[in-house]
Amino acid sequence: MDCRKVEHSIAQFIRDELDKDEIEKFVNHIYECESCKEELTIQYLIVEGMSRLEEGETFALQEELNAKLEHGRRKAIVRKWMKRTFCVLEIVAVLAAVIMTSIVILR
Ligand SMILES: [Zn+2]
Repeated sequence: MDCRKVEHSIAQFIRDELDKDEIEKFVNHIYECESCKEELTIQYLIVEGMSRLEEGETFALQEELNAKLEHGRRKAIVRKWMKRTFCVLEIVAVLAAVIMTSIVILR
């Protein structure tokens, strides 16, 4: 089985629509071909995700999404904090410059 045939068979494989011969050829190819394996993984996750949504079994996916959101949220908080810190540092730098200049002028 070549890559093109395997790619065409992925959807059928996921739906258990391949016959025994095809399954064997398909699986053999998948074990030997990284790019087809990757393609299968992607399509499987998409199809599984969709069917799990339809069945209402969304716990794992929901958790994954929550983790993703939480990760994004933390990154946003850190970014905000960094921005604020830089803002404060900038003000401090400007104040320091003003004070230094005043000291020099007042001398
Ligand atoms: Zn392949």
